[in-house]
Amino acid sequence: MGESIRNEKDANDATIEFLNLVKSIGIEKLNSSISLDLSHIGLLVSKDLAMNNLKTICNQAEEINQEVIISMEGPDRTDSILEIYKETLKTHKNLGITIQAYLHRTKNDFKEIAELSGSIRLVKGAYETQNGISIERGDKLDEIYLHYVEQLLKKNHKCSIASHHEKIHQETIKLIDNNKPTNYVLERLLGIRNNELMELKDQGYRTRIYMVYGKEWYLYLCNRLAEYPLNIFQGIADIVDESTTHNNR
Ligand SMILES: Cc1cc2nc3c(=O)[nH]c(=O)nc-3n(C[C@H](O)[C@H](O)[C@H](O)COP(=O)(O)OP(=O)(O)OC[C@H]3O[C@@H](n4cnc5c(N)ncnc54)[C@H](O)[C@@H]3O)c2cc1C
Repeated sequence: MGESIRNEKDANDATIEFLNLVKSIGIEKLNSSISLDLSHIGLLVSKDLAMNNLKTICNQAEEINQEVIISMEGPDRTDSILEIYKETLKTHKNLGITIQAYLHRTKNDFKEIAELSGSIRLVKGAYETQNGISIERGDKLDEIYLHYVEQLLKKNHKCSIASHHEKIHQETIKLIDNNKPTNYVLERLLGIRNNELMELKDQGYRTRIYMVYGKEWYLYLCNRLAEYPLNIFQGIADIVDESTTHNNR
């Protein structure tokens, strides 16, 4: 967790933390990739700083055959993030990118990015946007999201279908059953509808849980609550559950 770092030292410190994380994953032999925001490792200071830090992390991740996936941020950063992604992918094949289905521009970006070898994590998109540049949650967005899913699965492009939405989920399973891709993963945030994901894993589908890590939790929490306000009740239930368990120990 962490984004929008505005000085070089903090960006470099974050990079060191990522390097330690890669090292630990290697030592523990975990089947895991890492995800990061480019603005966490220097994008707002300079593109060069972010790209150099990204390459350093990719180099180390490559040594243990680990993938690095760039998260996608607000629409004012999309151009620079895609630029850094395309440039870095030329030398670091273990790099992937997140694409937001809700942006109108994704129609064109997708065509270009899907031609490249890097893995694609498909999300609906979480950031507020100005009017006219994104599609609101609803049937139209679901249809567009599923259109991208279909293209990725039919091409057997390396991809992650990252959504907690039941309808998306059901349709994706049908597409997987029909097309038999081998390079996909169904991905969800830790704590959100993970039981279903476990069941799918048991049935032989490829699954992954996205686990957040770090101290910058507040913004992350706000984003999750804004996305799905009912989570506040889940949070309270979890706190009560945890304190009951603690008191019974
Ligand atoms: C692995 C992963 C990585 C991501 N990375 C990025 C990124 O880099 N950039 C970015 O912009 N966004 C990212 N997101 C967030 C994404 O854009 C969406 O905002 C988020 O996944 C919610 O959209 P949805 O498709 O899950 O469902 P929505 O269309 O938002 O909701 C549909 C239904 O899904 C269920 N649901 C959705 N969200 C929740 C929730 N939080 N808790 C409980 N139920 C829920 C509810 O039943 C809801 O009615 C990521 C999401 C995941 C899973």
